Amino acid sequence: MSTSLVAAPFVAGLAEGKILVQRCADCGQSQKLARYACTACGQASLAWGPAAGTGTVFAVTLVSRPPEEAFRSLVPYALALVDLDDGGRLMGHAPAELRIGERVRAEVFEFAGRHLVRFERA
Ligand SMILES: [Zn+2]
Repeated sequence: MSTSLVAAPFVAGLAEGKILVQRCADCGQSQKLARYACTACGQASLAWGPAAGTGTVFAVTLVSRPPEEAFRSLVPYALALVDLDDGGRLMGHAPAELRIGERVRAEVFEFAGRHLVRFERA
């Protein structure tokens, strides 16, 4: 799994147990994905800062076929796409019975030497 350079601070944050979002220093807008420039004002003044990790479930999907061998012991597992209160949309592992619209909180867990996001009901 490769990590794009622009999202590297996010991955580094996970290793410290932190959920980070990217915000524009000029207008304060949070970015939904890691970007090189602000989607609201176009300035390249994006900085990474901590997020509360709370949010609302936008979508849930069940994964029954592992994307790679390391994940075989985890399947089946759910992945949730969550709109963070601090802005941005984040994907992470989740309880299979989670529903769209539920309130969740993100935490970081370690699996196969990687730091991954998991959502639990808030
Ligand atoms: Zn901006």
